[in-house]
Amino acid sequence: MKYYRLDSVSYESVRYTGEYRAERRWGLPGLHCPTCGGDCVGLEFYPSVDLSGLPAAKQLEDAWQETDVEKFERLRQLVKPLAPAWARLAPGASFGPLTGSAHGRFAQLYTLDGDTVLIRREALDELHAEGLRELKGVRTGLRFRQRNAPELLELEVEMHGLFHPDCLPPGKVDPCGTCGCYRFPLPKQPLLDGASLPEHLDAFRLRNFTNVIVITERFADTLNRLGFEEFSLRELPVR
Ligand SMILES: [Zn+2]
Repeated sequence: MKYYRLDSVSYESVRYTGEYRAERRWGLPGLHCPTCGGDCVGLEFYPSVDLSGLPAAKQLEDAWQETDVEKFERLRQLVKPLAPAWARLAPGASFGPLTGSAHGRFAQLYTLDGDTVLIRREALDELHAEGLRELKGVRTGLRFRQRNAPELLELEVEMHGLFHPDCLPPGKVDPCGTCGCYRFPLPKQPLLDGASLPEHLDAFRLRNFTNVIVITERFADTLNRLGFEEFSLRELPVR
């Protein structure tokens, strides 16, 4: 099985002009970490997670940079029972559907730098009909002020799999024991760690580089066969 990084195209699209401005209702604070000395603000998105029932929900509507590790950990433990089993819940993780405004034309599937992945309802139906596994589309609260507005869902992409230590700087392979952040740049010659890859999914985010979205060869072939447009694929070798 081959694997590919799914990403946006590197040119400005003439055909697809779609843009959106949106945010999620809740988030864990970022963390200024006393151990590694860094500011940790992770790219982790949980659109299906609803924190409205938590007594601390109001507090989690504010974004801030926490310096108290124990306080951060308490908040994290409050959220944990409501999050999926695969969640990392690093500092800066955000929860709830994307809410805001959108305009323009969107391709079948839209991602910007491995950030969120938006997909048109009919495109997700096509992928499901092709038998792609465990693709979960979550409703968004994106409002269009135009005719023929598409229905955009967000893919909730699970976090599994790792970059292989051989492609990472020595000494940076493990996450910080306090904040859980990884501190290495995107490898120039990326390699996936074969033993870490999930067997039950056709799309996932790497746990040690969450804005790298990996799709299987089966998914890539399906995108091409169905004629989806304006995405890029780069093969990621496996060791
Ligand atoms: Zn740290």
